[in-house]
Amino acid sequence: AHPAVPIALLVFGIVAILLLTLTADDVRETPGFMYGIVLDAGSSHTALYIYKWPADKQNGTGVVTQHSECHVKGGGISSYAGQQGGAAQSLETCLDQAVKNIPKERHRLTPVYLGATAGMRLLHSYGCNYQQFSEVRLLFVPTSISNPEQSVQILLEVTEKIQSYPFNFQGVAILSGQEEGAYGWVTVNYLLENFIKYGFVGHWLSPGRPTVGALDFGGASTQITFATQEKIEDEHDMMKLHLYGQEYSLYTHSFLCYGQDQVLKRLLAQILKSQGYSLAITHPCYPAGHIQSLKLNSIFDSPCTVMYKPSSYNAQASLTVQGSGHYEHCLGNVSETFSFDGCPFSRCSFDKVFQPNVSGSFMAFSAFFYIHSFLQRVTGITVSTPAQLEEATKTLCRMSINQMLLLAPEQKSRLQDYCASSVYVKVLMLRGYRFDETSFPRVSFQQKAGDASVGWALGYMLTLSNLMPAEQASLRKSLTP
Ligand code: AMP
Repeated sequence: AHPAVPIALLVFGIVAILLLTLTADDVRETPGFMYGIVLDAGSSHTALYIYKWPADKQNGTGVVTQHSECHVKGGGISSYAGQQGGAAQSLETCLDQAVKNIPKERHRLTPVYLGATAGMRLLHSYGCNYQQFSEVRLLFVPTSISNPEQSVQILLEVTEKIQSYPFNFQGVAILSGQEEGAYGWVTVNYLLENFIKYGFVGHWLSPGRPTVGALDFGGASTQITFATQEKIEDEHDMMKLHLYGQEYSLYTHSFLCYGQDQVLKRLLAQILKSQGYSLAITHPCYPAGHIQSLKLNSIFDSPCTVMYKPSSYNAQASLTVQGSGHYEHCLGNVSETFSFDGCPFSRCSFDKVFQPNVSGSFMAFSAFFYIHSFLQRVTGITVSTPAQLEEATKTLCRMSINQMLLLAPEQKSRLQDYCASSVYVKVLMLRGYRFDETSFPRVSFQQKAGDASVGWALGYMLTLSNLMPAEQASLRKSLTP
């Protein structure tokens, strides 16, 4: 034989072995995972979450985990009202990243959902309908502020954008406040494995644990959701869920205009009104030494401040706000933005909204977490009782802007707001929801549970993609090894 033949055979053999190894590695690198994407289009920003689960195991708690998350730069999609194409374009970077993050062969099998919340509810003018607007006190929203045409335009363009990606598009929606609350509750209890657990005898069992309530504090609305045995006197606040053969009776209420950004706006509007619409005002919740200028338009551009709006004003006029860091006055002003009178039910939280007694443990997330962790870090006070919450809030509100800057320089742009937000959280939780010495210590302030971010997104995907069966029988069939 030609002397080159053995060498050629050797080279061929080495190449073949290399190719086989590479192919085997490829198989190992793309294990049997399925993926799902949720875009959480909040009022202040949009986050894209990728979840994954073993392809052969669809059901059971703990099976679906968070693969990655991506935070869209800039404001929420509702902030692009009037800027055609802006909302859609803002999503590109995170969607491109999702293309890279999910194995190519799974792209077409990956469901993608976009859910918008209170920012879009405000823009879409849920306010004109009292039934849906039971979540807010404002009864009328002028169409010049809320703008259904613009919200439809935004939903259409983000739909088109998502459809241009190779995923399995499942739709865009504006979630109601009740849905937002209930999906947050589902997420919390799924992550804590409170629905079912894999028993050592090879069966999925009800762990027999009580569920945990969910407290969500977003940019434009806040939600409280918990399971209760008490009679729910207002049917709008009741939600029945069937999960894994169990029925859960939930109390859930969403307060529109009570999210952090809208609360801060309402507080400013209320203080401005109480100081006779002067263009130089003192803000007792801003720290001493802080001074800022803003346009009147930036306060009255929201349906949430309509009740404080003067009959006529120059939208471009500049307002100067000087902080005084006065805790008691701040508490007075914040309390004024709630109404504690005229409950038409046996008991209310505030604003004539029915609420049973809080019961069991709670997880408090989103801005509840940010504020709680900032309070603890800056004051050095552990906040797990109502008295500690009050003490830490007082301590924070009495700090000057320079003291705060020394302790938390990386939060520079938000420092002026933490006293107001902390006082607001105190009034909301202690006077509104009525957490007390016994129930407050049972609230855990968290951003994550394991590797997953806590919010409505996971619960939304689990529910919409049938990853959590209503009935236990079907569950047994598919899960028993
Ligand atoms: P998100 O949970 O990101 O939708 O934000 C909910 C609210 O928390 C919005 O009002 C955000 O502006 C606000 N927020 C985001 N990050 C922080 C932070 N580090 N401290 C305080 N508030 C924050």
